[in-house]
Parts: sequence; structure tokens; C-alpha cells
Amino acid sequence: MRIAFFGTKPYDRIWFEPLALEYGFDIHFIELPCNEDTVFLAKGHDAICIFVNDYVNAGMIDKLYEMNIKAILLRSAGFNHVDIKAAGDKIPVLRVPSYSPEAVAEYAMAMLLTVNRYTHRAYVRTRDFNMSINGLMGTDLHHKTAGVIGTGKIGQAMIRILQGFQMNILAYDPYPDKTLDISYVPLEELMHKSDIITLHCPLTADTKHIINKRTIGWMKEGVYLVNTSRGALVNTEDLIGGLLERKFAGVGMDVYEEEEGIFYEDRSAEVMTDENLARLMTFPNVLVTSHMGFFTQEAMQAIAIETLENAHAVEKGLPLLNRVESEMTH
Ligand code: NAD
Repeated sequence: MRIAFFGTKPYDRIWFEPLALEYGFDIHFIELPCNEDTVFLAKGHDAICIFVNDYVNAGMIDKLYEMNIKAILLRSAGFNHVDIKAAGDKIPVLRVPSYSPEAVAEYAMAMLLTVNRYTHRAYVRTRDFNMSINGLMGTDLHHKTAGVIGTGKIGQAMIRILQGFQMNILAYDPYPDKTLDISYVPLEELMHKSDIITLHCPLTADTKHIINKRTIGWMKEGVYLVNTSRGALVNTEDLIGGLLERKFAGVGMDVYEEEEGIFYEDRSAEVMTDENLARLMTFPNVLVTSHMGFFTQEAMQAIAIETLENAHAVEKGLPLLNRVESEMTH
């Protein structure tokens, strides 16, 4: 199988190159992202392999189908960047449903601890021998209430971590997991009662902008918000409005609505034209990182193995256990 591997970074090669040899796949590493302008590069391959800031829309599906592409291999759990309905029966889309939920949950906790205790700012100060701690006061997490939105694999890993801090857990999920020893409450109640809110639901039509002016209005004054899920769960302009009104004690964002084309790239020598992102960077209590919650050795290895297992299943006509189905997009 020849695989066009879009959006290649050096760390992808480390994990995929040796495994491709084992599986006998011919991977063509392409640094360009997959989009309307680059999709023609898939010609001559049997499958494409893409990451979260690549996309495949309906028009591209038609082109890939004409090129006889037999699979779209996602190196991610999320699949909101592919038009699943358009792919339909034409081209199977396969994802990596679980690689290391702990990687993302541990990162979400790191973001919470950072914005709460200002370690990011303390680091900058002490390197300059500015040993003042003025303005760096945080709050205990112990016995506070954490609201977890989405209690799937990552949400549950996060709950275990939060319970380690002896926090009270409230959860919201339209499909509650009855085996969990936590209180499920309606979204509004979660927002009203939580001292910290952490997002672990997928991006769907229902969850787009789940954090908006109205829901921010329900939140406590001095709430902490962490988003390691998908940028468009948060309406950025409404978030900025809330920050300006001093609603938030801290915000950690590993993802951003308009991250495509910005995240994973070095744009340090350019003028930042995304005004919302530039504005977010000016708040001392906001930490933005470049969609790296997944980025551990264990997760990268698991992503590589599972992605190539998916390719193997397509090649050999085996059951496609990780196929993304249309009904999963609701
Ligand atoms: P999962 O499928 O195991 O769990 C998702 C949960 O969200 C499910 O329990 C589902 O019922 C729930 N849900 C669905 N609709 C909801 C709604 N309207 N409101 C609240 N909950 C809802 O997925 P997961 O592995 O836990 O991953 C969660 C998300 O994390 C992914 O969809 C992806 O967007 C994101 N993610 C981010 C990174 C990163 O690097 N930052 C890495 C992996 C995954």
C-alpha cells in the first residue's frame, strides 16, 4: 500500500518510518497540509494519512475517489476535519479512537495548575532574578468543584486525576456512564456550581460554541476554564468578552477555533493577523498552547501502530473496527 502522509513533522517520521518497514507500506512523507490546493498530491497512492489541522471536504472526497484512494487514515481520535457524510460508502475514514487518554488528561491538569499557580510567569521572572511573587497568588484545588463536560476516555482519565486532588466532581454528558461514581447534572447546573470547567467532548453540531456568552453568564465569578478538546467548542469572542469582564481566574487553551494554518507552524517572524489570538495572548491569566495535549512518547507510538493497523485492515479486507460512521457526527 502506498500512503500519502500529509502534514509530516520530524516527530512523525520517528514513529512511522520503522513501523512502515515492518508492515511493508510505502509511505510518502509530505510536509504540506492536506487541503483543496494540495489534495492532488494523493494521486498514485492507495490511501491518505492526515492530522487534525488537515481537512477533507466533500469536493476533496470526490477528487480522492476519482484517484482511487481506498482509505482516509486519521492520526487522531477527533474526526471533525473530514466530511464523514460525503465520504459515506465511497471511502472509509479510519481513526485512532484511543491512544493515550492519560496524555491529554495529564496535559489538561498541567494547564490548570499552570494558570492557577502562574508557574509560566514565575519561570520568566526568576530567570531574570525577579524574585517578586506579587500577582502570582493562586487558589487551592483541594475540595473545590470540577465540572467535566464529556465523560469518555479522556474525561474519565481527567476525573481520576481531579479525584486525586480530592475535588468534588460534577459531570455533563448526554450519554452518562452509569458505572462512574460521579454526579451527572444538567449543563446549566454544572456551569453554576463549578470552580473549574474542563472540556472533553468531541466537536459536533451540538457542541460547537458550547462555551458562549450565555453559558459564560451561568459560570461562577473567578472560574477556571480548560479546553484540550477542540477549539470551536469555545466562541472565542465571547471568551474574550468574559475575560475582559474579569469572569475568569484563568483559562488554558490547547486548541483554538482558528488554529488551522497557525498551530504546529513557526510564525514567530511574521505579523500575527488573527486578532482574537493576538488578544488572547495579552491576558496574563490565559495560557495558549499549540494543540499538544496528545504529545507523549506513548501516545505517538500508539498512534503510529493503530494508524498502520487500520491501513492493514483496509489492505487485507479485514473488518474496519475503527471506521468513523456518519451517526457518530451527531
Ligand atoms: P470519547 O469519544 O471517548 O468521549 C467523548 C465523550 O463526549 C463521550 O462520553 C460522549 O458521550 C460525550 N459527548 C458527546 N456529545 C456531548 C455533548 N453534547 N456534551 C457533552 N458531552 C458529549 O472521546 P475522548 O477520547 O475522550 O476524546 C475527547 C475529545 O478530545 C476528542 O473528541 C478530541 O476532540 C479531543 N482530543 C484532543 C487532543 C489534544 O491533543 N488536545 C487529543 C485527543 C483528543
